[in-house]
Amino acid sequence: MWKVMCDFDGTIVPFDVTDRLLDRFADPAWQFVEEAWKHGRISARRCMTLQVSMIRARQEELDDFLDTIDIDPSFAAFVTDCRQAGAPLAVVSDGLDYVIDRILRRHRIEGLQVFANQLVAGGDGTYRMEAPFAAEACPAASGVCKCQRAGSIGGEGCRTLLVGDGRSDFCLGAAADLVFARGELLARARERGWAAVQVTDFAAARREFARLTGRMADVA
Ligand SMILES: [Mg+2]
Ligand SMILES: [Zn+2]
Repeated sequence: MWKVMCDFDGTIVPFDVTDRLLDRFADPAWQFVEEAWKHGRISARRCMTLQVSMIRARQEELDDFLDTIDIDPSFAAFVTDCRQAGAPLAVVSDGLDYVIDRILRRHRIEGLQVFANQLVAGGDGTYRMEAPFAAEACPAASGVCKCQRAGSIGGEGCRTLLVGDGRSDFCLGAAADLVFARGELLARARERGWAAVQVTDFAAARREFARLTGRMADVA
């Protein structure tokens, strides 16, 4: 039996929604904060916390923007495949819960467990971030520790499949039984010798998952 941990930015949405959101609504200095994180001067969690505090937007503006974001056209079918295979699936993201919930709901994807940072509205166009899923012990120092979250879903003896693309996936990539990867995650997986399959979108993820679970007929 498999359980599936699925990244959001760059995976369910083919680009980074958080970056687009900051581009649109945050003080341009968010890019300097990003650079500080990329060079290892601040943690991923600190980076996101600072960036979220730089957003200025009315909630309606935020919503209008989020309602322009499309997800991978095969993600809904992948969710169905997982349900039919009896494999629990959770979205694990170092992005923002409000963003993910709204985008998934608009695409009629319901009932998924989502682990992400909390976006808290100040009511005056300002926001702050809470990180209820951070783990001090995790070397990734992300807002959401994906390796620890993996322990909270699925039953005993469940194998872990990670679908992802970036640095926030590294801590779980090292612990997962198999990785469906693209981008920086694929490079890291190859470098470290993790069991990984290159998967560039959810059409490909569906084929590979069917192969894994012996349900080829579902996607044929
Ligand atoms: Mg990502
Ligand atoms: Zn971790």
